[in-house]
Amino acid sequence: MSAVAGPVVVVGGGVVGLCTAYYLAAAGLPVEVVERRRLGSGASRGNAGWVCLSHSTPVPAPGVVRYALRSLGRPDSPLYLRPLPDPAFVRWLWRFWRSSTPAVFRRGYSAIAELNRETFGLFDGLRDSGVDTTLTRPGMVHAFLSPAEARHHLALQREMSHGHYPVPDDVVTGAEAHLLDEALSPAVRAAYLVAGEGVVDPEAFARALGEALAAAGVKIHENAEVTGFRSAGGRVTALRTADSELPCAAVVVAAGMRSPDLLGLLGHRLPLQAGKGYSFSVDLDPAPRHTLYFGERRAVASPIGGTTRIGGTMELSGNNNRLDWRRIVAVALASRHYLGRWFDDPDDLVGLIRDPWVGGRPFLPDGLPVIDRVPGHDNAFAATGHGMLGVTLGPVTGHRLAEYVVTGRRPEALVPFGFDRLRS
Ligand SMILES: Cc1cc2nc3c(=O)[nH]c(=O)nc-3n(C[C@H](O)[C@H](O)[C@H](O)COP(=O)(O)OP(=O)(O)OC[C@H]3O[C@@H](n4cnc5c(N)ncnc54)[C@H](O)[C@@H]3O)c2cc1C
Repeated sequence: MSAVAGPVVVVGGGVVGLCTAYYLAAAGLPVEVVERRRLGSGASRGNAGWVCLSHSTPVPAPGVVRYALRSLGRPDSPLYLRPLPDPAFVRWLWRFWRSSTPAVFRRGYSAIAELNRETFGLFDGLRDSGVDTTLTRPGMVHAFLSPAEARHHLALQREMSHGHYPVPDDVVTGAEAHLLDEALSPAVRAAYLVAGEGVVDPEAFARALGEALAAAGVKIHENAEVTGFRSAGGRVTALRTADSELPCAAVVVAAGMRSPDLLGLLGHRLPLQAGKGYSFSVDLDPAPRHTLYFGERRAVASPIGGTTRIGGTMELSGNNNRLDWRRIVAVALASRHYLGRWFDDPDDLVGLIRDPWVGGRPFLPDGLPVIDRVPGHDNAFAATGHGMLGVTLGPVTGHRLAEYVVTGRRPEALVPFGFDRLRS
């Protein structure tokens, strides 16, 4: 980084911004974090906490558009599309459709898998430096109602793993399948375990990162929304909030689904939509010991904080946090296929579940994040668009982006995640 005085200011206190701030501070730079609400209060809060290598899938997979179109007007569908009369939304859908070819999908999958290779090492490094990541590695059980679906899924994972992580040779079928995790119901007719996959308590992880930052002398501004930038000669010199102006040597925009607003202020149009997901917590007996992926219904369950968090759905209905209770019910109903009849009537859910939550996964149309310098600005960077993998990819994103900011040279690992690919 050039020798301009002042801190690097990270906008956004989600897992991506916090990890980036962490590695910038670890590299010896003065750092500040500006967060419009509280640290870890965005998409980084109620998610499923997976830290995993076997789910490196970008969402625009072959066939996904047909699937999305079938979901139109069906709020119980795992992927739900509510068309918006907004040209940016239509453009995004068009580009999403164009990205859902086998070739683009495979390229994206490989790029994420490659970036992901350092993930567990970095989580270990955080723990060794005193950050209570809460990571445990119980392994992930992929559970299916149909053996054919399970085999299809496993074949793809085997092909894409390139030997980087252990994937079983075959699926367990029939009456044995549900024995892979005590919580699974006998309706599960095929399953396989990917050993070593991890899970964190995302809220606790964000809190631990915040504490580590404070201990490292990073200044944290909560309840402070960045509303503008002051620039001169292709450099951002300050950020504006409602009641102050913060001078900076560089800025990193890691504002999740709100990143397009900020990048727009820097003159850059980012095609990003929120893929809204829902979750809630419930005490099950027996509770899952592994993270669980419910294949056909694309829902998940995780052991988090002594209880079970169930989550799922992908809803494209604008960049907002409006919670649609029908989607909570849809996730609960989906989980019942795999976990058994843990409730009788959807009306009972109000008394059974805790912390119903919605979060906007930041999605770019090709499903890959952007981790790059902002075009036209020497000292502005962006890290967003991590979709379903922000917790998993948070540390590696922060680590690599900090390297970019410090050296001024884009690390090879970040080449697939540049702004250049998003030019249409
Ligand atoms: C149901 C569900 C389950 C998921 N499960 C997993 C999982 O198991 N594993 C996984 O890896 N990922 C998972 N994800 C995805 C993951 O949650 C996201 O990818 C990740 O949280 C994105 O982090 P972020 O830091 O980019 O965004 P956020 O956490 O949303 O952080 C952005 C922050 O920027 C702040 N901000 C915005 N605008 C401004 C502004 N102008 N000024 C100041 N601050 C601003 C916001 O308040 C927010 O706190 C899941 C998501 C959902 C919805």
